[in-house]
Amino acid sequence: MRTFFLIKPGEIELKRGNKREFTQRLKDQIHRRLRGLHFELEEYPGRFFVSVDEQDSETALFILQHCPGINGVARAIKTDKGVDSIVQAAIECAAAEVAAGAHSFKVETRRSDKSFPLDSYGMAVVAGDAVLKHFPSLRVDVHTPDFVLMVEIRERAYVYSATAPGPRGLPVGCQGKGLLLLSGGIDSPVAGYMMAKRGLALEGVYFHTYPYTSAEAQQKVERLAARLAVWSGGVYLWIVPFTEVQMAIARGPREEANTLMLRMAMMQAAELIGQVINAQAIVTGESLGQVASQTAENMRLSQSRTSLPVFRPLIGIDKEETIAIARRIGTYEISILPYEDCCVLFSPKHPILKPKHEELLQYYTSLDLDNLISKAVEHAEKKTVRFSDALREYGFEVPERGL
Ligand code: ATP
Ligand code: MG
Repeated sequence: MRTFFLIKPGEIELKRGNKREFTQRLKDQIHRRLRGLHFELEEYPGRFFVSVDEQDSETALFILQHCPGINGVARAIKTDKGVDSIVQAAIECAAAEVAAGAHSFKVETRRSDKSFPLDSYGMAVVAGDAVLKHFPSLRVDVHTPDFVLMVEIRERAYVYSATAPGPRGLPVGCQGKGLLLLSGGIDSPVAGYMMAKRGLALEGVYFHTYPYTSAEAQQKVERLAARLAVWSGGVYLWIVPFTEVQMAIARGPREEANTLMLRMAMMQAAELIGQVINAQAIVTGESLGQVASQTAENMRLSQSRTSLPVFRPLIGIDKEETIAIARRIGTYEISILPYEDCCVLFSPKHPILKPKHEELLQYYTSLDLDNLISKAVEHAEKKTVRFSDALREYGFEVPERGL
């Protein structure tokens, strides 16, 4: 038996000139993510259809529901365009809803094949009557029905009821690539998710200060990357050994500027990696005023170390909202695991709140970090977090495969 999914693409439907390119991107993403399952993908104007073996249907639904660019996914029955076949499918679909406890419904018809003998209203009436006759316990409720029976008449006819929501947004990769500064905290995975949904493919970078931060801290970041990859697709994660850079900063005379200097150094390292991977942007989890180091002036200073735009999707979002998103996207429970992050260890007791721009730029230069930063980036370890690793994080048993 095959399960058949009807996929509703989102924002790409609003595109004009570059719609083809966006559509191709979404198709590629669906292909990559379903790789390893026995599936078929068909494309029609405004819809994609995926069929898979029934035993893979839960995995496929999970994958499609996490694929940016998709607004909704419905298990559908595909039939020929005979009215009787459509009615039969409507009854089958309603049977599942009645079994799940539904009492009321309405029918909605979409007819892109204008040669179909019934108009939308006519088809809805015929299907509705048949369903009512078959299930005397059901009644029609056009305002708040328990389920909506959808009939779409296109090249074939498709009948479905429940539509599971997708992430919306744009297909990953259609806006190029971003380098996400991924710490073990709550914010940066959320920032990565938000930008993946805007079409950025992601690579991650984690600045590791072993032995001041433990191997577990790194494993936590790897798990976060895997949770994120279920949305963004597989990612490369750069682990940059930053202990020497951090020590050099700590040896400097101005303890109160340590966090700021570290941020600037991270940005400089991110710029170097960004060049190697051809990134269009750097992404961080900063939010204005959340902590002492996240003031506008401090961001101006850290930003001065890169030529790339720095995307901070959480800039205007408060912590409660970020936590709500983190819970929803599955990163929260990993983020709150108790492993220290490097910045805590070196944090000044009284960080500077009102830095003097020129003076701090000079101080940064005086620390003479360029060689240490280049060396750290050269020694970075590039880990592959596969999409199959992501699925396993969520308990699906899938064979290992490429990115
Ligand atoms: P998060 O919850 O993402 O760790 P935070 O609220 O703890 O954020 P900071 O520690 O000030 O905030 O870090 C701000 C941003 O700098 C993070 O969101 C992340 O993008 C980046 N960052 C901080 N530490 C690291 C690190 N060790 N490796 C990579 N990026 C980091
Ligand atoms: Mg942090």
